[in-house]
Amino acid sequence: MSQKSTEACDVDQSRRELEELELHTRMERIGRKILVLSGKGGVGKSTVAANLAISLARAGKKVGLLDVDLHGPSIPKILGLDGQRLGPDSAGGIAPIQVSDNLCVISVGMLLESAIDAVIWRGPMKYNVIRQFLKDVDWGRLDYLVIDSPPGTGDEPLAVAQMVGQGAWAVVVTTPQEVAIADVRRSVSFCKTLNLRVAGIVENMSGLVCPHCGKQVDLFKVGGGEKLAVEMGVPFLGRIPLDPLIVASGDAGKPFVQSFADSSAAKAFACVIEPILNHTKEEGGLDPTCLTGRQVRQPKETKKMKIAIPLADGKLCMHFGHCEQFALVEVDEAGKAITGTSYLTPPMHEPGVLPRWLHEQGANTIIAGGMGQRAQGLFSQSGIEVVVGAPGEKPEDVVSAYLAGTLEVGQNICDH
Ligand code: ADP
Repeated sequence: MSQKSTEACDVDQSRRELEELELHTRMERIGRKILVLSGKGGVGKSTVAANLAISLARAGKKVGLLDVDLHGPSIPKILGLDGQRLGPDSAGGIAPIQVSDNLCVISVGMLLESAIDAVIWRGPMKYNVIRQFLKDVDWGRLDYLVIDSPPGTGDEPLAVAQMVGQGAWAVVVTTPQEVAIADVRRSVSFCKTLNLRVAGIVENMSGLVCPHCGKQVDLFKVGGGEKLAVEMGVPFLGRIPLDPLIVASGDAGKPFVQSFADSSAAKAFACVIEPILNHTKEEGGLDPTCLTGRQVRQPKETKKMKIAIPLADGKLCMHFGHCEQFALVEVDEAGKAITGTSYLTPPMHEPGVLPRWLHEQGANTIIAGGMGQRAQGLFSQSGIEVVVGAPGEKPEDVVSAYLAGTLEVGQNICDH
């Protein structure tokens, strides 16, 4: 190689390294990056991303919303920013569009003359755009960057996940139908391969809110996303009903959760962000893997734990619904030793009551024998990790085995 071309290679190499450093520095200033993914298009990924970002901003957090769904950038339309174009900031980077005090937005749609332009983009060009949005946009300090990612599990979402870097979380959006659920399985495996933490699954278009009476009608089979979350060992973040007002507000460019804050769908969005806000408080309290071994269960991290064990006759109760008492076993900071056990009588066994009550008691894990899918989903929603299929032993013995990584779990006998 001539001296000239060696020098050119060196310059290229230094430029790449500098760009990497810039990207890294920019990403470091962002508290939590949340990639919103879906196995396929049309399940409401952009709608969820937009409303998630607005809900977090309304909760007082500094939020950036980045739309890199190259083939269908719909965030500008959803937020009433159609026709807005991106411009430079004073430092020569790209200035995001400030939507409110707490929310700023960048969309690939703001670069295009028409929505179909992106389709003709070639590979390297696409990746350069994504990269530039991450590297050159001065978001300032953000609590959250919500990223509306391209759908599927192909090269584009892969590039986004890789550029965003370590420490990102994924929210996977699905609809209740079987076909969409199969796509989600792929998305969760995709996250696992990339070591992306799954913040949880959102089941969108789950039941219809009747425009006349406001009651919910279950048009399709609901609960598929929740069942899948349990099966794949990831949290379930909640269901968003099918609401005609979401379409209407999206078409009118009026952010839904802001315009219809009292609707049940807006309340559902508020429930979805709750575990995200709580987990962030706990500094990385989410499950770092999507699927761990199913035979032996152990804590996923060593944070201060309170482990709830449902009891009958002083031992772990094999049917969660039959438990008479709870043992609340406290574990030290290092997650190695039991520091105390208290015994509590639960309130009435009604759907949703026990998860909420145990959350209030500070429990962050429950180890049970048999527990139905619905109850498991409700615990996940309350930020409580569920371990099922544990043996009917004394609570301290169960917890000691769990901490030692030797707790063997069998079949969940209530899983019917
Ligand atoms: P994706 O990003 O997955 O392609 P979009 O967010 O663009 O999907 O949503 C597709 C269409 O479905 C839009 O018209 C949107 O308004 C509508 N939609 C999304 N979620 C809901 C919902 N929960 N209720 C009613 N309509 C919805």
